[in-house]
Amino acid sequence: MNYISTRGLAPGAGFEEVLLTGLAPDGGLYAPETWPALTAAEIADLRGRPYAEVAARIIAQFTGEAFSHAQLVDIARNVYGRFDHADVAPLTQVGAEDWILELFHGPTLAFKDFAMQFLGRLFDEVLARRGERLTIIAATSGDTGAAAIDALKACAHVDVVVLHPEGRVTDVQRRMMTSVDAANVQNIAVAGSFDDCQAIVKELFADREFVSAVRLGGVNSINWARIAAQTVYYFTAHAAIAENGEAISFVVPTGNFGDIFAGYAAKKIGLNINRLVVATNANDILHRAITTGDYAPAGVSATISPSMDIQVASNFERLLFEASGRDANLLRVRMEGFKRDGAMRLSASERQAISADFVSYATSEAETIAEIKRHFEVTGDLIDPHTAVACAAAQALRQKGALSGKVVSLSTAHPAKFPDAVMQATGKTPELPPAHRDLFDRPEFMTNAANDTDAIKQVILASVRRKE
Ligand SMILES: *Cc1c(COP(=O)(O)O)cnc(C)c1O
Repeated sequence: MNYISTRGLAPGAGFEEVLLTGLAPDGGLYAPETWPALTAAEIADLRGRPYAEVAARIIAQFTGEAFSHAQLVDIARNVYGRFDHADVAPLTQVGAEDWILELFHGPTLAFKDFAMQFLGRLFDEVLARRGERLTIIAATSGDTGAAAIDALKACAHVDVVVLHPEGRVTDVQRRMMTSVDAANVQNIAVAGSFDDCQAIVKELFADREFVSAVRLGGVNSINWARIAAQTVYYFTAHAAIAENGEAISFVVPTGNFGDIFAGYAAKKIGLNINRLVVATNANDILHRAITTGDYAPAGVSATISPSMDIQVASNFERLLFEASGRDANLLRVRMEGFKRDGAMRLSASERQAISADFVSYATSEAETIAEIKRHFEVTGDLIDPHTAVACAAAQALRQKGALSGKVVSLSTAHPAKFPDAVMQATGKTPELPPAHRDLFDRPEFMTNAANDTDAIKQVILASVRRKE
């Protein structure tokens, strides 16, 4: 299995290298050189199988020779056995042709666990083979950090450092990160914004000496292994509700375009998907790009679905690569122009290619609150604000006639992770699942740091050295 860069100047790479490096050396994103293809019979045969078995079969399409089938089955059973629902990603029917896919039964109650838990096991396996260690660094607006820490805390060959903006994540989100007491975990609360945290991580990666001193690696959403692991639940959901293998649509609350690109990858390798709906919150760059052709970041506004408060959707480059007919030279020039001008315009043929698979909708704050309330009144269940962004988009597009047939909306977080928004909409406080009931009684472990790259470098060096 060979991977190529979307910008065309990096040498081809195998899955192991793609896993460990994340970004290609020419600044591009890795994509499979040729898309694997599952036959209709192979897809039909997934029906009724346990989640872990489907995961091993689908992920194997992307890992090539790097892991044996037995290894993947073992890892998948282990990882998804820790989820608190036997179906791992259960579906709830909420209308005649509408379903919600619950992706919050993992250890940190958000969909990022699906990929991150798997990644943690792949890292440990590959690093053990190579006799290497890695320091993983991540900036988080809440969910990624918790998912990374839980996934990596037991890894023998990985240290993990997570930067979060001090005072700007919910108490539940912060405690899920800081209440983990493990020698290889370092939480840093930065006196700044999420964008400041991301800028610091970028600067650390640009410092060659530091990168090699601590063997820096990343787990952000551009890592292909995360995309691969996220394709699985599109297959299990389809298998569960498409009676004759018919096309169904998925509505995905989107920030970095990672989760929805996994849906596109599922379609590319053979899954019969009708529409992929890009559902954004008020930070609607993707909705504007799809409807007008202008990919132009505006300022980030803080919403009640903070995990999607993003300006530049890093995985969108992968879709542009496909929509341009995989023209890496064109894309490289394009991305350089975007860096220079801060905006870019999609061509007519790219827009046409994108609209063959995607529809988009931007859900306002008022619609999000109204949807949490409506959902509660109709079903008696609480949904989180990210899920509500998707459910509201599904309804609005159905009403406009832009969406028909069976539709699955992805529920990306447990409502108890965002209690304030749920309370505001319904007057109810969502309860944390049993495994997290003592969250507010656990001690917290974190270091406070100034919004300063050098200060943070010192904190990281000290914590990595302590372990030597
Ligand atoms: C990260 C996240 C998203 C957005 O996912 P992308 O892959 O970045 O598009 C949506 N909902 C929740 C709860 C998240 O944590």
